[in-house]
Amino acid sequence: FEEYLKPRAAAGLADLVVTGVLPNASGLYRPDLLRLGGPGVPALHHAPAVDALLLSHAHLDHAGHLGFLDERIPTFCSPLCRGILVALAGSRGRDFESEFVDFRPRPAFPDRRGLSIPRRFELVEGRFQVGDLSCRALPVDHSMLGCVAFLIRTSRGNVLYTGDLRFHGPEAALSEAMLDAARAEGVWLLLAEGTRLDVAERRTEADVFEECLAAVRGASGPVIADFAPRDLYRLATFLRIARETGREMVILPQDAFLLKELLGMHPLVPDPKRPPIVILKERKMSGTYSEKDYQKWERSVLAFPTARTLDELKPVRDRLILALSFWDILNLVDLEVGADALYIRSSSEAHSEEQALDDRRLDNWLTLLGVTRRIQSHASGHAPQPDLVRMVQTLRPEVLVPVHTARPDLWDALVPEVRVVVPAPGATMVF
Ligand SMILES: [Zn+2]
Ligand SMILES: [Zn+2]
Repeated sequence: FEEYLKPRAAAGLADLVVTGVLPNASGLYRPDLLRLGGPGVPALHHAPAVDALLLSHAHLDHAGHLGFLDERIPTFCSPLCRGILVALAGSRGRDFESEFVDFRPRPAFPDRRGLSIPRRFELVEGRFQVGDLSCRALPVDHSMLGCVAFLIRTSRGNVLYTGDLRFHGPEAALSEAMLDAARAEGVWLLLAEGTRLDVAERRTEADVFEECLAAVRGASGPVIADFAPRDLYRLATFLRIARETGREMVILPQDAFLLKELLGMHPLVPDPKRPPIVILKERKMSGTYSEKDYQKWERSVLAFPTARTLDELKPVRDRLILALSFWDILNLVDLEVGADALYIRSSSEAHSEEQALDDRRLDNWLTLLGVTRRIQSHASGHAPQPDLVRMVQTLRPEVLVPVHTARPDLWDALVPEVRVVVPAPGATMVF
């Protein structure tokens, strides 16, 4: 799938199951979608096959398919995780693939337009219960707020799922506290992420701050900061740089909407109504900034005193840090950004052919606009090999099940004292 080749809502789950995007598992999916049938789609079930979904965080490689889950299965996650999903769904408009918090039953007949079924969330912090299983949500540091690891007590021993995590970010103390707590409880089986199991590099958010601060200090024109807008740690880094350099920080309406939804839930969430934040009012539809050009959720943040149009920003463009990515590049045309601009890429390298192609397009755009000063400065949301090995050595599990990694084969040599069992797609693991 890609931009113009999307799974068809009208085909229910068929496109997603045929491509293997969703596993062909029974008892998991929404009955209204299963009833639509299709090649390879599992048969309709009476009762769900699982009791609960434990969701570590709101990144889309974890939560992206939540909308397809049988609505009778409750999702256990942190309050911040749900807050982020609500904001994401609220600012994307309703589409088949972003029905994280509620959904329109299919087939979506016109007379059922207003009908939406809410998904059940159980917001957890610390200890909680799923049926007769005692569980614990343990907060960890990652490139998103509200991430947790899960510890589940079973009759055989404790199972720990790490979620995505790092030990070098602004809230590294959380990950260390998780390790202490899990070690104290004892871990029999460890489901460990290993995104960067083949990497030793350990650049921190503080490194990004120092590098970018120096670069922005040396810039005379506008600064374009290209980073994942939902990483509020990175946003905090650039807000600090904006304050230190007397600049304003321009963010998009969807980013402001996320801040509005999360305000008060974590000390790092800045108030989008206050400087140095500026909310960019882009040209849409009529091109005249008319109220009617914007959706309801957009109007809710564009009503803030910090909202400004591109025309209003143009005269002060040299005092701005613009949090924009490839997809928003055309705003730079309106701002008449040129040779005095600095472009900071503050995200990871391209992971796919498509992303590499987008990078080339971005390069071409920047060249066309005359932006020649470009730097790269990033710190990963994932722990590198030395920290992952230390984690396993600290927890001393009997069994290690590698997940979220392209290199599960590396674990054996790194922790020879632990039995490593690599999961296979579609196979049930029995211990
Ligand atoms: Zn993640
Ligand atoms: Zn992930």
